[in-house]
Amino acid sequence: MTDTTTLSRPAPVPHPERLPQRVRHTLRFRRLSVLRTERVTPHLVRITFGGADMTGFTSPGFDDHVKLFFPDPATGRLALPTAGPDGPVWPEGAKPVMRDYTPHHHDADAGTVQIDFALHEAGPATAWAEHAEPGDLLGVGGPRGSFIVPTAFDWHLLAGDDTALPAIARRLAELPAGARALVLAEVDGPADELPLPSAADVQVVWVHRGSRAAADAAEPPLLAALRRTPLPSGDFHAWIGCESAAAKALRAHLVDECRANPKWIRASGYWRRGAAGTHDSLDG
Ligand SMILES: Cc1cc2nc3c(=O)[nH]c(=O)nc-3n(C[C@H](O)[C@H](O)[C@H](O)COP(=O)(O)OP(=O)(O)OC[C@H]3O[C@@H](n4cnc5c(N)ncnc54)[C@H](O)[C@@H]3O)c2cc1C
Repeated sequence: MTDTTTLSRPAPVPHPERLPQRVRHTLRFRRLSVLRTERVTPHLVRITFGGADMTGFTSPGFDDHVKLFFPDPATGRLALPTAGPDGPVWPEGAKPVMRDYTPHHHDADAGTVQIDFALHEAGPATAWAEHAEPGDLLGVGGPRGSFIVPTAFDWHLLAGDDTALPAIARRLAELPAGARALVLAEVDGPADELPLPSAADVQVVWVHRGSRAAADAAEPPLLAALRRTPLPSGDFHAWIGCESAAAKALRAHLVDECRANPKWIRASGYWRRGAAGTHDSLDG
């Protein structure tokens, strides 16, 4: 007689300690005010937000994102949605420009959140951040959820451009002593490099794209850097955040050439050349 109990038992999950966890948060929309702005590097503005609406804000995942809602540049009016069962509900004709950003640092005691804006040639978010002043208002939705990636890998690869530096900095800050990480970070030039503190053993490779035109002409600078950088041995988790085509190319190279486990890659297009306000999740 066949033992069906044995046959139907699910296969054990290899490395259960490496399974990520999804956390959902109640969707809230907040009206926050600028407390201070700081030009951290030539192409990065750090803005600290606060206000009564900060109550209950949470961001446990290093690559969490919030949706920023920008005031109408003509009227200065800031529209905010209400939370419906299927997402935001907008008053008729009030939908503003929205863009995704990473909460770079949340200070629950002070009731503040910092967002780092990478400045590029043109775009409503960039224009707003360049001219933001204390007292200016911004709408903030979420985070809606968090993706918690365990740290129990032999080592970690973090690859991204300046839009991903907030997420990379958060991951490095949470990696424990004894963890190992290789960071490939693309910025315009040496003046755009930032300190990336961590208790882990971290090698940072700064990749200077020079001008955007030069970066556009050749293969993505991050891919070229990945090709020429020797990778540590052992199992690794790879996190990628940058221009969408570059993120796709990096992911393919890791799977095809570096024997990366596709389940242990989290790759996103944080922006897409020639398109406004995109978010491409390249997993699965
Ligand atoms: C999950 C997530 C988290 C993100 N976190 C951050 C963050 O913390 N900090 C941050 O700075 N950005 C972050 N980004 C990227 C940011 O949302 C985009 O760069 C966004 O398009 C900027 O909006 P914009 O209004 O300035 O430009 P848009 O109006 O969206 O785009 C205008 C033009 O600029 C181009 N463009 C957009 N971004 C860039 C860029 N970085 N470099 C060169 N050209 C660009 C577009 O292709 C388009 O042609 C994140 C994106 C995602 C999806």
